[in-house]
Amino acid sequence: MEKKNLDWANLSFSYMKTDKRYVANYKDGAWDEGGLTGDAMITMSEDAGVLQYSQSVFEGLKAYTTKDGRTVTFRPDLNAERLYNSAKRLEIPPFPKDRFVEAVLEVIKANEAWVPPYGTGATLYLRPYIFGISPVIGVKPADEYQFRIFATPVGPYFKGGAKPIRVKISDFDRAAPHGTGNIKAGLNYAMSLHAIVTAHQEGFAENIYLDPASRTYIEETGGANILFVNQNGDLVVPKSDSILPSVTRRSLEYVAEHYLGMKVDERKVKLSEVYDGEFKECGLCGTAAVISPIGQISDHGKEYTFANGMEEMGPVMSKLRSTLLGIQEGEIEAPEGWIYEVK
Ligand SMILES: *Cc1c(COP(=O)(O)O)cnc(C)c1O
Repeated sequence: MEKKNLDWANLSFSYMKTDKRYVANYKDGAWDEGGLTGDAMITMSEDAGVLQYSQSVFEGLKAYTTKDGRTVTFRPDLNAERLYNSAKRLEIPPFPKDRFVEAVLEVIKANEAWVPPYGTGATLYLRPYIFGISPVIGVKPADEYQFRIFATPVGPYFKGGAKPIRVKISDFDRAAPHGTGNIKAGLNYAMSLHAIVTAHQEGFAENIYLDPASRTYIEETGGANILFVNQNGDLVVPKSDSILPSVTRRSLEYVAEHYLGMKVDERKVKLSEVYDGEFKECGLCGTAAVISPIGQISDHGKEYTFANGMEEMGPVMSKLRSTLLGIQEGEIEAPEGWIYEVK
């Protein structure tokens, strides 16, 4: 397989059109057989459901090259299931889970020249999504939908080392109690844009959202779950019905327990515990970065700096990150069913 001639290590996290994408259409109550296409453009009604009432859900996962040269993807079955659940919450007909996994593998295979070589830190990011495509004017679900998966190569998340970031406690809320915080939908991101632009202007990399009902407990950031390491060295993971179930976070919990012998405690975490010095390390987790260390949290000017400061990732987060990366890249034996090879 001849790879594209790209400067892999210097790619950014942005869209690049690749050769093939998958498209399936839902009409008259059923998904059609679907297939690959070279056409990256979508033509739809000016009154499409997605344009009027934001009826859309999405996923994000990556394909990459292992040390021994295999092209693989990581736990796509969990993305299939999450997209299924997200779709149901927005009255979108869910895409069958087995077909989702097959389509992911098909798209990777068709774009194998775009899968970055091992050692570059780059990956082929896959974006599956479903949206309402038929006209809707009264408030109701669309009758017709489109499911797509495109692929785009993205560079290493950290160029030149994982430096800790500064984050702020947001004045905005992400997800209402009993709302849509636990599904992956564009609507959760639309309303986070003003908050993130504001945070960036103030010099912060991210927003931490608190539970909207009491503004006491830590939930997550706009696009990543949060992890803590307490003074005993246990992994502490905030628990709430409105947190998005991150595949990376669930995988890291397994790695912590079964590979590193750590205790994992999923529970409600109060913001005040941070300021009381309960935690030595803190990080964000998601597909793109695996773990991104948090160096400092600011709550309206009141700052807390974690033990490792702003120069480097703490030892436990580093170990968790390198172990999961090792599993993904084939250097450490993976649990059964985590790695899907593209043949
Ligand atoms: C996608 C996403 C994550 C990370 O999930 P992964 O499956 O680990 O990539 C975390 N929080 C939110 C709000 C997300 O949308």
